Amino acid sequence: MVGYHRKLLRVNLTNRRIEVQDLDEAMIRKYVGGVGIEAKILYEETDAETHPLSPNNILMAMTGPFTGTGVPTSGRHHLVARSPLTGLFGESNVGGSWAVHCKRAGLDGVLVVGKSESPIYLWVHDGKAEIRDAKPIWGRDAFESAEWLKKETLKEATAAVIGPAGERMAGIATIPHIGHIVRAAARTGLGAVMGSKNLKAMVVYGNDSIPIAKPDSLKASIKNVTPHILGVTEAFGKYGTSGGIENYEKIGNFPIRNWRDGRWAGAKKISGITMHDTILSGRKACLNCPIACGRHIKVTEGPYAPMDCEGPEYETIGTLGGLCLVDDLVAIAKANNLCNRYGLDTISAGGIIAFAMEAYEKGIITRKDTDGIELVWGNADAVVKMVHKMGKGEGIGKLMAEGSKKMAEALGKNAIEFAIHVKGLEPSAHDPRRFFSQALSYATAARGACHNASWSHPYELALSMPEIGIPEPQDPYQIEGKAEFTAKMQDLMCVMDALILCRFSQVGKAVTVTNHVDWLNLITDWGIDIPGYMLAGERIFNLKRMYNVRLGISRKDDFLPPRFLTLLRTGEDLTNQLPPLGRLLSDYYAYRGWGEDGMPTPEKLKELELDRL
Ligand code: SF4
Repeated sequence: MVGYHRKLLRVNLTNRRIEVQDLDEAMIRKYVGGVGIEAKILYEETDAETHPLSPNNILMAMTGPFTGTGVPTSGRHHLVARSPLTGLFGESNVGGSWAVHCKRAGLDGVLVVGKSESPIYLWVHDGKAEIRDAKPIWGRDAFESAEWLKKETLKEATAAVIGPAGERMAGIATIPHIGHIVRAAARTGLGAVMGSKNLKAMVVYGNDSIPIAKPDSLKASIKNVTPHILGVTEAFGKYGTSGGIENYEKIGNFPIRNWRDGRWAGAKKISGITMHDTILSGRKACLNCPIACGRHIKVTEGPYAPMDCEGPEYETIGTLGGLCLVDDLVAIAKANNLCNRYGLDTISAGGIIAFAMEAYEKGIITRKDTDGIELVWGNADAVVKMVHKMGKGEGIGKLMAEGSKKMAEALGKNAIEFAIHVKGLEPSAHDPRRFFSQALSYATAARGACHNASWSHPYELALSMPEIGIPEPQDPYQIEGKAEFTAKMQDLMCVMDALILCRFSQVGKAVTVTNHVDWLNLITDWGIDIPGYMLAGERIFNLKRMYNVRLGISRKDDFLPPRFLTLLRTGEDLTNQLPPLGRLLSDYYAYRGWGEDGMPTPEKLKELELDRL
């Protein structure tokens, strides 16, 4: 079989058993790779009784058929486990270099189960793995730990390494990936799963070749499309993911003051353009990516100097900045760097701090609770201090690091009314009152309020994908057809997370579904067509839903926070509308072939060949 090694490294940390499993060819063909294979394994090898932090939970890091092949923006992998934050299907997609090293080490992925008696790390290379002692770095931050790990293994290796937040199993703990670039598997608390297993890091290095069906044709196709990619993503690469902040603020997509306000002059001060003109010192790219949207910054003076590190991305600026009304870009960069060191999700961290600021404003928490920190809107230093508290699990920071849902439940009073989350996950920095597809996708995505589950808002602005029945940009507020459009985009994102391909490959129509399918066939020789490709995405989406249904999820859980359904924002030239969620959900379930209760029907599962799982 080409495109894969068909090898999954399985590590049981309880009995320290390491084995390489041969993956079944038909199974790979059906689930493609990445999240598809992970969803199948998680569904089959865990059950509703598997506690997220128990030894029985399994953590997987999978590559896909595109990994290591040179396909543009394919230097990524996908991690899956039952989420400690939501209690549901947990997943996170991350770029960098870990994936390519894993595949070049002769493996399609790594699965870890069990729990080590003491802190260890996994050293994966040349198709094999060793369990090594991590006691010397237990308690140290992710950057210091990565430095030590590279000295112990290989300086060219990449470390997926948790910080103190993951070690103490905080709900919003991430898995920072540190190689030539810093990227984090940030969402759904997967760092806590590593912490629960006493697994400090998974360090990988590989340099083997990857089997490809038609390598010369693939190379020619990539060479052909690369100038186009570079052309249409020029501004995106130059200004990074936050280059569009001013426009997003203007049109009502940017989140402001815990999702309450419509317009905010401060947005300009924290945009990617401002970063470019002030603290940016260079661009960085995940492996096999010509776009290079990663930021590197340098700060030599001021209260947060010195900084010579990765810069914040759009979502981070939107949440630690806009949601908290902080217009100090350097402070946001500092908070971002601290989140990476402690191993905290910047999106959740910003959402939780904004929630805490509103609780402070309403007198539900006081200065006594914050240990004297004046937690008021726009207080940049308070945001930095709160990140420290969450990272260390200190004072109120311990509760905050468990997520806004749990924090609201603990605070009581009316806190639950302004804790902004779906299924326990804080939303990314895209307002569902501006894009109804995001409203629907936030409500129905397996992991909660996640823009990446559909990545549909650009298609409600400017993009189209005629090959899958999206011939033109969609009206963001039109109800008719919204369910079908959203479901198609969710299916597409699922199969892209199986390949694995970056969302930003869609910027400016840089890469199309036709490219995906062409490259998949050149790599695997499958002869798959676009309907077959989209069917794989639909299968994966439904499988994730089945996993959550087994945990009790149904229509009652496909909600949006009341603020998104009742508060219309105002501001000059601002357009936004309240999403009619009930109607959207009914349309959506009908299109998906689910019952009105939000459950996939037996007929649908049979059609997707999921009925025998
Ligand atoms: S576009 Fe950015 S995030 Fe995506 S693969 Fe390239 S560098 Fe990584």
